[in-house]
Amino acid sequence: MYVDSHAHIDSAEFDSDRAQVLERARAAGVVAVLTVGTGDPLSGALERAIELAEREEMVYASVGVHPHDARLFSEAAAERLKDLVQHPKVVALGEIGLDYHYDNSPRQQQQLAFAAQLKLARAAGKPVIVHSRAADEDTISILRRELSPDLGGVMHCFTGSAWAAEEALALGLMISFAGILTFKRADELRSIARRVPLDRVLIETDSPYLAPVPHRGQRNEPAYVVEVARSLAEIHGMSREEIGRHTTENFARLFRVGSIKTLLP
Ligand SMILES: [Zn+2]
Ligand SMILES: [Zn+2]
Repeated sequence: MYVDSHAHIDSAEFDSDRAQVLERARAAGVVAVLTVGTGDPLSGALERAIELAEREEMVYASVGVHPHDARLFSEAAAERLKDLVQHPKVVALGEIGLDYHYDNSPRQQQQLAFAAQLKLARAAGKPVIVHSRAADEDTISILRRELSPDLGGVMHCFTGSAWAAEEALALGLMISFAGILTFKRADELRSIARRVPLDRVLIETDSPYLAPVPHRGQRNEPAYVVEVARSLAEIHGMSREEIGRHTTENFARLFRVGSIKTLLP
């Protein structure tokens, strides 16, 4: 049993075959998918993620203003998020954070939007999904100021340094690995993954991006999370199923999704 803790299956890339994609996920043993709503918060994009979660029992949603879109973060956006995050199938606020690799929004605006949304999450009582790329130091320092340790969250698609992993764990966050873990040249990431305790790790696809080996270069989909589990299993010298069980339990605990717990053997 597996959970894809971060995917974008509400996105247009899946408009033509979303039902089959979910069917293949189920057939691969995936019991839940968290679809992360992104885009202009006032455009209806976040509502699309929620509507998908309403239609499909196995799908959960999160909402947030991605660091790429930080320039769209406004008072009106904050008000909208405040409403949407209360929906029963919205299990987290995110993805939020900093992306200094693409710099699609000015860094100062990224920092403001990140800090403001951490405050929103705290007020709403929801954990956070953090996106950090080439921004470890600023991400950690803003988290130190604004993260609610009781609610926690996850560093998604982790590609940071060993230092960032240690700091994130010390802050009470979980660490989620994506398909990059399966790439040939990811030895350093694998050595970081080895040191993340089994009760603090999640797996994800970040579909439709970053398909794992052996699907590299294709459109990614939740069924392929099994390949991430396989890679993590090799790292820890245990079975894929055991990794599935640990990461599913962690998902249920972090996002307070009781229904998955009841599915556990
Ligand atoms: Zn991301
Ligand atoms: Zn994402």
